[in-house]
Amino acid sequence: MENQKIPYKIYLNEDEMPKNWYNVRADMKVKPAPLVNPGTLQPMTAADLAPVFCDELIAQELDNDTREVPIPDEIRGFYKMYRPSPLVRAYCLEEKLKTPAHIYYKFEGNNTSGSHKLNSAIAQAYYAKKQGLKGVTTETGAGQWGTALSMACAYLDLDCKVYMVKVSYEQKPFRREVMRTYGASVTPSPSMETNVGRKILAEHPGTTGSLGCAISEAVEVATSNPGYRYVLGSVLNQVLLHQSVIGLETKIALDKYGIVPDIIIGCAGGGSNLGGLIAPFMGEKLRGERDYRIIAVEPASCPSFTRGKFAYDFCDTGMICPLAKMYTLGAGFIPSPNHAGGLRFHGMSPVLSQLYHDGYMEAVSAEQTAVFEAAEFFARTEGILPAPESSHAIKAAIDEANKCRETGEAKNIVFGLTGTGYFDLVAYEQFNNGTMTDHIPTDEELAVGLNALPPQPTF
Ligand SMILES: *Cc1c(COP(=O)(O)O)cnc(C)c1O
Repeated sequence: MENQKIPYKIYLNEDEMPKNWYNVRADMKVKPAPLVNPGTLQPMTAADLAPVFCDELIAQELDNDTREVPIPDEIRGFYKMYRPSPLVRAYCLEEKLKTPAHIYYKFEGNNTSGSHKLNSAIAQAYYAKKQGLKGVTTETGAGQWGTALSMACAYLDLDCKVYMVKVSYEQKPFRREVMRTYGASVTPSPSMETNVGRKILAEHPGTTGSLGCAISEAVEVATSNPGYRYVLGSVLNQVLLHQSVIGLETKIALDKYGIVPDIIIGCAGGGSNLGGLIAPFMGEKLRGERDYRIIAVEPASCPSFTRGKFAYDFCDTGMICPLAKMYTLGAGFIPSPNHAGGLRFHGMSPVLSQLYHDGYMEAVSAEQTAVFEAAEFFARTEGILPAPESSHAIKAAIDEANKCRETGEAKNIVFGLTGTGYFDLVAYEQFNNGTMTDHIPTDEELAVGLNALPPQPTF
């Protein structure tokens, strides 16, 4: 293989695309902790979850044992419209950095929603349709998930109600309009339409909202309207399962050229892209077949892995959702207003949290001006305008490639480039104008959320 020139883009043929998702939980010796009922502090059963989620997705959520889950033909057909996504050898970046490292990135921004979120949106919409539901509700922050879900719902002729964090609704009118173009209704959150929205507005007049608050509203609307269920774009086990398509494609592409990654890097918000990218590699690691360095990169202003607690917590501000055991900053945590870089959820996927807790992966945090510096460097070198979220991974990949320059090691670095930044130009504008600032929360600031964790189950 040594002499075989590796192309700039490694594509797969349609028939090489994965036919199954891979469920990493099957290979975990310590399984992720179950979702828990906040009232009884007992694990949620399928029956408990049925009013909130679609039946087939509940089965996937609770299934810690099935290793391979067949991707239904209808979903594979949809995937083929925009997948396989390219695995790019970043020759230009390597040259600019003068690094002996070989850098690869898996680019998930080649669809209209602009990110990897479509991989799970189509799956969740498919199972809702199959159950004969009328529609789904969800929250969206920056808007990528809401956009992906509205595309999937339009394709399957399902109603889609999106609760969009108010500050984003106002700052990102174009994102909102894309969702409406695909037929979704978009409501700024907190709204006066729900009990929980009215309560939050009464307690915090003028609040510009948070993801946790939008989740509470979307769940309330799903559970109080017959024929509707709630869907979530990250954090949950089922979402990581669907996103495993990213890692499976990456592995098939690398295997074609006999490339074995040394380091795999992904940005971490709720953990779905990272969980998907690393899935098959983590499987090998868990089974003792191979070792990889796996690095999660999170914002210094929302540092759940690096400064959070591993504990049961609410996924939403309204405290109506089940508790999940995860690295968390507390459900009341809201990143400082100057935080522009996404990845603002207070918690982290229970699967990744358990793997991190058990020492199978590392985590680092990055300040946003350094992230945008990396983003701009990448845009000018590789051409793609990256999403700020993705740029956390770029930053860490560049750091690792620079270390290789010092040591002379030709490591293989693979990172996830989760999306494009066309809707983040206000943030880029701040960076270009030199008005972007960093905020690292103090221990005292973090203590507020961390000291307000709910009672912990004792089973
Ligand atoms: C939503 C999003 C993320 C973060 O979500 P994860 O669930 O952690 O993957 C990262 N990048 C982009 C472009 C996104 O839209």
